[in-house]
Amino acid sequence: MGVQGVVLSGSGRLLLAQPHAAEPPRTLTPWAVLVRDGHIAWVGAPDEAPDTERWEDLGSALVTPGLVDAHTHPVFAGDRSDEAAARLAGQPYAAGGILRTMTATRAADDDTLRQLVVARLESALAGGTTTLEAKTGYGLSAAEELRALRLIREAAADVGIRVVRTFLGAHAVPPEAGSADDYVDTVITEMLPAVASEAQFCDVFCDDGFFSAAQAERLMTAARHHGLGVKLHAEQLARTGATELGVRLGATSVDHLEHLDAAGVAALAGSSTVATLLPGPTLVMRDHLPPARALLDAGVTVALATDANAGTYGNFSMPLVIGLGATVLGMTVEEALAAATAGGAAAIGLSASVGVIREGMAADLVAWDAEHEGAFALRLGAVRPVRIWVGGEERALH
Ligand SMILES: [Zn+2]
Repeated sequence: MGVQGVVLSGSGRLLLAQPHAAEPPRTLTPWAVLVRDGHIAWVGAPDEAPDTERWEDLGSALVTPGLVDAHTHPVFAGDRSDEAAARLAGQPYAAGGILRTMTATRAADDDTLRQLVVARLESALAGGTTTLEAKTGYGLSAAEELRALRLIREAAADVGIRVVRTFLGAHAVPPEAGSADDYVDTVITEMLPAVASEAQFCDVFCDDGFFSAAQAERLMTAARHHGLGVKLHAEQLARTGATELGVRLGATSVDHLEHLDAAGVAALAGSSTVATLLPGPTLVMRDHLPPARALLDAGVTVALATDANAGTYGNFSMPLVIGLGATVLGMTVEEALAAATAGGAAAIGLSASVGVIREGMAADLVAWDAEHEGAFALRLGAVRPVRIWVGGEERALH
């Protein structure tokens, strides 16, 4: 009579991932993992594995922790491909685009919008993402932002993917608000109390032409009073000091950082704030690359995420983001994979449960159609999962 659970094993590389991107990669070959009650109960060599009735051999496939996409905006309707084309033809990025999406999103009924979110979460899962942070920010009223948070919860349950929900009421100023300051008042007095029980984080688009550092500080302080963690869209369009604000207020992550300079890197070094880098929109916007190498060399915890959204980047595939991290951002493949697993988990406050393969962690695992992690660079964007487990439950691949 063996122990309960299932042993997964293989003759290939099990990439354990690392709690910190600066640590050297650790792999195990051959390997075995005991999965029990949704968690990893044991990791080691196959000939030392506990005796169970169920045993599955994954052959020579590379196996990694489930990927963590720590920054997405999946709740929107409408199509802004025309705007992307116009921008690439020379027109500047402007706040008007978000309001265009807001109008289309408000006009979509619940079923339509839920189906759009389900399709996006399914495409994330099909790319090996097992945990995803999902932001609101295209409703921009208490009722619409609350609806977005509810639809994310419903869609995630449908798809069987872990989600962390983030309230991004301060994404843009809606047309009915008198001014940005008036809208910040509305977010603090009406929206935060209405949404706080449905979200884990509050995010603010703190940048030139959006919300100022002073407005962001008011919002983040209020969000903290409601028990929410805080995040910032920082230094994407200009160097504003949003990074230093995030560090000072204990933000879980500051995201984008295309315009971060040496002083900003120094501010992040030694803090617990994660730098979340988003190479997808950087390329589509033809923007500066964020200083990934300098951040890693300074010992900052780095996450890689898609930033899939309505207007600047629309792809929920994390394998492409890992490939871009290892190519255009100058990271090693191991650093990029760590940033897409353990780093992503740190960026959404889930380091204790997902992002590494270790006893006690959630059994979120992906077997790939590759035998070495170098494939994420070599086959840029084309590496695919062959099998996926979320909390020990295998998910069907469509
Ligand atoms: Zn974003």
